[in-house]
Amino acid sequence: MDTSVVIVGAGPAGLVLAGELRLAGVEVIVVERLEEPTGESRGLGFTSRTMEVFDQRGLLSRFGEIETSTQGHFGGLPIDFAVLEGALQAAKSVPQSVTESVLETWATELGADIRRGLECVSLRDDGDSVEVVVRGSKGEQRLRSAYLAGCDGGRSRVRKAAGFDFPGTAATMEMYLADIRGVRLEPRMIGEAVPGGMVMVGPLGDDITRIIVCERGVSPQRRTAPPPFSEVADAWKRLTGIDISHAEPVWVSAFGDATRQATEYRRGRVFLAGDSAHIHLPAGGQGMNTSIQDSVNLGWKLAAVVRGTAPEALLDTYHSERHPVGRRLLMNTRAQGLLFLSGDEVQPLRDVLSELIRYPEVSRHLAGMVSGLEIRYDVGTGSHPMLGMRMPDVALTVSGRATRSAELLRAGRGVLFDLADSTPLRQRAAGWSDRVDIVTATTADKSREDALRETKALLVRPDGHVAWAAPGAHHDLPMALDRWFGPSR
Ligand SMILES: Cc1cc2nc3c(=O)[nH]c(=O)nc-3n(C[C@H](O)[C@H](O)[C@H](O)COP(=O)(O)OP(=O)(O)OC[C@H]3O[C@@H](n4cnc5c(N)ncnc54)[C@H](O)[C@@H]3O)c2cc1C
Repeated sequence: MDTSVVIVGAGPAGLVLAGELRLAGVEVIVVERLEEPTGESRGLGFTSRTMEVFDQRGLLSRFGEIETSTQGHFGGLPIDFAVLEGALQAAKSVPQSVTESVLETWATELGADIRRGLECVSLRDDGDSVEVVVRGSKGEQRLRSAYLAGCDGGRSRVRKAAGFDFPGTAATMEMYLADIRGVRLEPRMIGEAVPGGMVMVGPLGDDITRIIVCERGVSPQRRTAPPPFSEVADAWKRLTGIDISHAEPVWVSAFGDATRQATEYRRGRVFLAGDSAHIHLPAGGQGMNTSIQDSVNLGWKLAAVVRGTAPEALLDTYHSERHPVGRRLLMNTRAQGLLFLSGDEVQPLRDVLSELIRYPEVSRHLAGMVSGLEIRYDVGTGSHPMLGMRMPDVALTVSGRATRSAELLRAGRGVLFDLADSTPLRQRAAGWSDRVDIVTATTADKSREDALRETKALLVRPDGHVAWAAPGAHHDLPMALDRWFGPSR
């Protein structure tokens, strides 16, 4: 074995997975075909749930001052995300290149071996290990590992080489993206329907403006290179009447609405995470966020199995938990695409939805879907409202010291929050104390989290989801500990 886990691709999914594995002390090599990061930023900002996930790993301060906003949309219909009480607000305008740079530094500091300039060309899973062939400037080499994760984006080589099915629909349209300098355009932050299509304008700072343009009825092209800026400027002129041909293009790209999802996220010793597992129209800024959260779900499970503390079966919960999340992502981006990009024929639907969105319950549902805060994993039945949900950040007092639940998750271990100072509870969990931190705490913030008001204890997984709660879970604590962390010592 060259290492325990090989990760193909150093995008957001690959870097987060590398960091999570290193947090648990697992050896990892990341192979990335690019010699250097491109500095390009498809995504801007991240959702509330990603803010929480980064907070749980102590990463937020690395971004400096983060501009947040509660203003969002669903398919172009404005939503005030403030309806999601008790959550951090989404980050606006953090370029994806900055997020990737922060994640790469974090993973490297934790000891991830990131090897750039190496492209995965083929792989073979022989049942006991995986051998991957990578090609670089010094020719081909082979790396053998216990597991391999394909985090190599929408055109994933790993997905094809390992025989994953990727059904869905091909692109029906194409949109242009251009970051341009030297023109002043009126901001149209959530996209604006214009006769013949949709246009979006957002300032990126440094005199750079991002424009996105979608012209209805134009068939997608099979491209091997970015479109020339003249194509974008021509489309802009046709849709808005404004001539931007004199602008300086900083980055030009095209993307479509192809929507596909792998039928399995795991085949034997090979996993898919991020865009390699799901592609869709980038509506509502969710792709990178979902990719990051795929990896946060997979990382601790894979680490536990590699370290031999949990059984192999734990790995199957990666597919059973994340595949439904991907399916909903595809559903909501398809719906948003229809609302956003269709013509007058869907105006009645937009009008009806605009009325519905004024009901807080409706906007809370849609905001919960887009932000990732509504995700509930199947952790067993019970009446406690937080079972399977993410643990919100709650102010706590531990041994007389003020802290927050997010801070207690930073080590990437499970945490048993004993909120009723119960010796029997702590004794029942003692056999797992090598994997689970047992913390006696009092909530200092009861007013904010209704759900915690009557709660005596919570078992939180390393990914921040509640695996067990008392009172209200139908199974007992040792069962939950055994299920998620393996047998007691
Ligand atoms: C226009 C646009 C706007 C977007 N805006 C947002 C947004 O605002 N918010 C959001 O959340 N998402 C957004 N997205 C989606 C987001 O960019 C992706 O979902 C995200 O980059 C996926 O991360 P990933 O790590 O899975 O894949 P990628 O970021 O694609 O990373 C894959 C990595 O693998 C490497 N690689 C590929 N093949 C190989 C190989 N054979 N060997 C070795 N390395 C390989 C690549 O070089 C790359 O570094 C947007 C997408 C587009 C197109």
